Amino acid sequence: MGLRTGKQYLESLRDGRNVYLDGQKVRDVTDEPRLGLAAQSVAALYDMQHDARWRDVLTALDTDGERVPVSCLQPRSIEDLARRRRAMKAHADATCGLLARSPDFMNIGIAALSAASEVFDGSDGRRSFANNVRAYHDACRRGDITMTHVQVNPQVDRSRQVYQQARDIALKVVRETDAGFYVNGMRLVGTLAQYANDIVVMPSVVVTNDAKAEDYAFAFVTPVAADGVRIISRPTLVPQNAGHFLDHPLSTLYDEGDAVIVFENVFVPWERTFIYRDPVMCNEVYRQTYLSEHYSHQTMTRALAKAEFMAGLACHMARAIKVDGFPNVQGLLAELLIFVETQRALLLQAEQQATATRFGTWAPSKWPLQAAQLYFYEKYARMIDTVRTIGAGSLVGVPSYADLSSEIGPLVHEYFATATLEADRRIQLTRLAADAAISAFAGRQALYERYYQGDPVRKACSFYNEYPKEELTGRIDGLLTDLQQRAAR
Ligand SMILES: Cc1cc2nc3c(=O)[nH]c(=O)nc-3n(C[C@H](O)[C@H](O)[C@H](O)COP(=O)(O)OP(=O)(O)OC[C@H]3O[C@@H](n4cnc5c(N)ncnc54)[C@H](O)[C@@H]3O)c2cc1C
Repeated sequence: MGLRTGKQYLESLRDGRNVYLDGQKVRDVTDEPRLGLAAQSVAALYDMQHDARWRDVLTALDTDGERVPVSCLQPRSIEDLARRRRAMKAHADATCGLLARSPDFMNIGIAALSAASEVFDGSDGRRSFANNVRAYHDACRRGDITMTHVQVNPQVDRSRQVYQQARDIALKVVRETDAGFYVNGMRLVGTLAQYANDIVVMPSVVVTNDAKAEDYAFAFVTPVAADGVRIISRPTLVPQNAGHFLDHPLSTLYDEGDAVIVFENVFVPWERTFIYRDPVMCNEVYRQTYLSEHYSHQTMTRALAKAEFMAGLACHMARAIKVDGFPNVQGLLAELLIFVETQRALLLQAEQQATATRFGTWAPSKWPLQAAQLYFYEKYARMIDTVRTIGAGSLVGVPSYADLSSEIGPLVHEYFATATLEADRRIQLTRLAADAAISAFAGRQALYERYYQGDPVRKACSFYNEYPKEELTGRIDGLLTDLQQRAAR
């Protein structure tokens, strides 16, 4: 098919999928009022690929002459990583970094798995899962499809192993045939699931290396519209009966949706299987394929776009009412700009310290990326707080944009102008800030940054445990010895 247009993407979502929202089955996610605008936002990203201004940033010729999204390419040098970052940044800037699971996220993941495909052949002596991974990457590249991924088992009893749960509702293998296997159960959280073509079921977080865990240890791909797949959406964040689109522009455009996915005896053909009944491989796959590093390259590029957006918004709000001359406000704004520069520095550092992998590709350095990620969720909460602090009462003290053209329009124009902005611009800016900082959408964004790539508490433990600390502790040893020698002189 080649590079898709937004129209082709939207058409692909009209496939009879089973999406449920607010107690109803959704007939067509692209024209459902609570879901359709986010679908349009993803479609706009596809259209950007065909826009002469962005085509050479977002797409490139692959080795076989096919024009594909840059995010589908396997980086073979530091410059390739930089090119990929420029493409990801263009898409993230187009959505203020708020549409987190833009299609490039999973493209990058699948490209990483495919580059490292040889590691998948250890899983099963009978079939070449490596071929499956490469074939799927090829299908993604050529079909320009959108994927969601799910890797978390349901919360029933986190103190016990997945096979010891009081309710056996986690996704598991229930039957095998010559052509594939059947799975039953639930996985979460599929962000963008309503708007994806395929679901990539990735290994769940740490399964024990135990035969009893085998039924839960797999990775595979299934179409969203496959028989038995049910997408159960959380309630929408798109405000209903809003006075005007400009009152809630971010919630309306960028509520990318989160869903729990229930698989009712879903058939998975061997051709779409990457890992099968293999807890060891499930625990190893992220490390061996450099998937975490590649994922983080996208997420931290997006985080930079988001930090820039929030810093710009806070500075604009401060100027609107001329509080930007006060030292306390300048201190808050400087802090946001420092977050931006720190984020940028860590991202570029990860590229500069990239290493060649044994697969012939290059992977960005994980330490700056993990540091950026562990740093970002708290800083993002701080950015939201700063917009609230600067916006103060105005976040609840300006009316709907719709009031500008209502019977009280003249009053609104007179009373809501500031020293630097006319009323319509001021209301638009303030409603944007309210959407970014005090809405349900803002709350979900903060939760997303905390959890989207796992529990930060356990991620910090891994960071500490894996970080090469010997050089640092060795220096302390050297100093102690040196001091001891001085004391003895
Ligand atoms: C907005 C949003 C979008 C998401 N999108 C996706 C997605 O697209 N794809 C996807 O696969 N996942 C997604 N996730 C899920 C995300 O990966 C999980 O939320 C994350 O891994 C944490 O798992 P959990 O939510 O089950 O929390 P739990 O693991 O159940 O943790 C709950 C609390 O208990 C503590 N806790 C639990 N177990 C332990 C333990 N063993 N030791 C110490 N503390 C523990 C945690 O620190 C935490 O405070 C998303 C999550 C959010 C919030």
